[in-house]
Amino acid sequence: MASYQTHEQSQSEEVQWKGFVFQVLISCKHYILNFNLKYNINSPMPNAIRHSCSFRGCPVLTDRRYCEKHAAQARSEVKKELFENDANALQRDKLYHSARWRKLRILVKASQPRCVTCGGPPDEIDHIIPVRLGGEPLEIENLQALCHLCHQRKTSNEANAEKGKKVYGK
Ligand SMILES: [Zn+2]
Ligand SMILES: [Zn+2]
Repeated sequence: MASYQTHEQSQSEEVQWKGFVFQVLISCKHYILNFNLKYNINSPMPNAIRHSCSFRGCPVLTDRRYCEKHAAQARSEVKKELFENDANALQRDKLYHSARWRKLRILVKASQPRCVTCGGPPDEIDHIIPVRLGGEPLEIENLQALCHLCHQRKTSNEANAEKGKKVYGK
């Protein structure tokens, strides 16, 4: 028996399918990454004489870049950073493919027909408080229409502010 789908059903299946492929690709990447991290971060240096570990202030002698303890630490730091980036990408992908996001986009564009900063074209919908800083991803109060340029400017200001915090916070 033939089955029929509405356009919306087939669209949401397509989104699910894309999400699945995305996840498989990330798993493959993590598998390769784990392998590389294990073997590359502290591979033996050819003909190296023993020297102290490259970690600042660590006196342990080794013929590799790091002592065992600091090699493990370096691996887990690299891994954490890369895996966090992927987790964020996965979340973003889910968010911007959701039906609620599509509806909110339409609503924001209808209520804000111009860039709220410069009055230019409403090219993009911006999270007023960025999602990664705890802003609501799918609430209309946290959304505004911006032109491409104003959006870029806001994003780069936010990135600079965060970088500044990281540098001076230490
Ligand atoms: Zn060390
Ligand atoms: Zn603008």
